[in-house]
Amino acid sequence: MRPISDEELLSRQFRYEDPESIPGLCRDRPDQNLDPEIVGFYEVRPFGGRAANPDAPYVWCCHCQKPTHWGGRVLKDKTDSTYIIGADCGRKHYGDKFVVIDRAFNDQLARQKLLVRWSDAHAIRDQLLAEIKQVFSDPTWAEIEKKRAELKRVAPDVVYRLKALANRAGSLIVRDQVRDLAAEEQRRQSHDRAVAVFKALSKWEQRERRRDGLAPADLDETPILKDREQNLGPLRGLGLFLEDRDVRAEAIKLRDAMGPIGTISKLGAVRNAEITRTLRRITDAATALRSAFVETAASWRFFEPDHTEAVERWYAGSRHSTIAIDPLSTVYRAGALARIVPLPPRPTYFDPPALKTLLADGQTA
Ligand SMILES: [Zn+2]
Repeated sequence: MRPISDEELLSRQFRYEDPESIPGLCRDRPDQNLDPEIVGFYEVRPFGGRAANPDAPYVWCCHCQKPTHWGGRVLKDKTDSTYIIGADCGRKHYGDKFVVIDRAFNDQLARQKLLVRWSDAHAIRDQLLAEIKQVFSDPTWAEIEKKRAELKRVAPDVVYRLKALANRAGSLIVRDQVRDLAAEEQRRQSHDRAVAVFKALSKWEQRERRRDGLAPADLDETPILKDREQNLGPLRGLGLFLEDRDVRAEAIKLRDAMGPIGTISKLGAVRNAEITRTLRRITDAATALRSAFVETAASWRFFEPDHTEAVERWYAGSRHSTIAIDPLSTVYRAGALARIVPLPPRPTYFDPPALKTLLADGQTA
């Protein structure tokens, strides 16, 4: 197969929408001894296949000499004649050499797809880098970081535990014990039954049982306790506690991932696997940056009054399961959190257009 440069590959149109109308299409059965080259493909299978499209016509095939397929290859042989052949008929007609050229053709298609994504990434590179720069000049992130440090200073133990909760996007759950009145009532009833049975016995039988230690004991009146679990809702403002998902750190990762992105002509002999790896790194970094934006920008929600109240209840409620005396929690319960000036509400998060485009491209690829 003739080698094609990346620039040419990028501009090539391999897909034929109407293969039978290719100018000069040869309707003969091709000579098997003339080595063909695959120059394109067609894929006209309608949505739902034959069942949903009883009248959709097939495409004519040079091997079958009649319309038999919805998908296949466009071939050109040494005499410059063009043929169309069905997906499986290529192999039937040409044997193993078709398998070899078909594999090479698929490689071309795969590289073309990567080149499209590469040049898309290149097209938005400058804008994206400018957006990343903007992230660094946005005071929001520094403000959140300051607040994070403040919280840590005032109530390190609380922050430590909220961090664990934030890492699994957990809920504020308070566990305590309450009297199980139903169980106590059941215990009383079964005691009454045993007593009634005992009283129905003859005096002699009662004496016998008493002697054998089988008479009903006095009613046990110690309270029966059961565990109670109260869900006070999900922890809000997770971004305050997820330091490893720092917006600026993620922005740096994306900037670094964009490093190799240049023009297609500079790609040279870079292999498909390497291109795939670079593009994946970019998509992953962009996804992480976006979720860091969403999480971090929502940090202010931690300070919503009903939420700080829930956090206080959660912390107080979970104390009995940990060390009883905690001097730092005293600071906390004295209202230290309340003394921290809440972050201002930020109803929308930063959504830079180039980053958005990048993520949209990554999803369709
Ligand atoms: Zn065929």
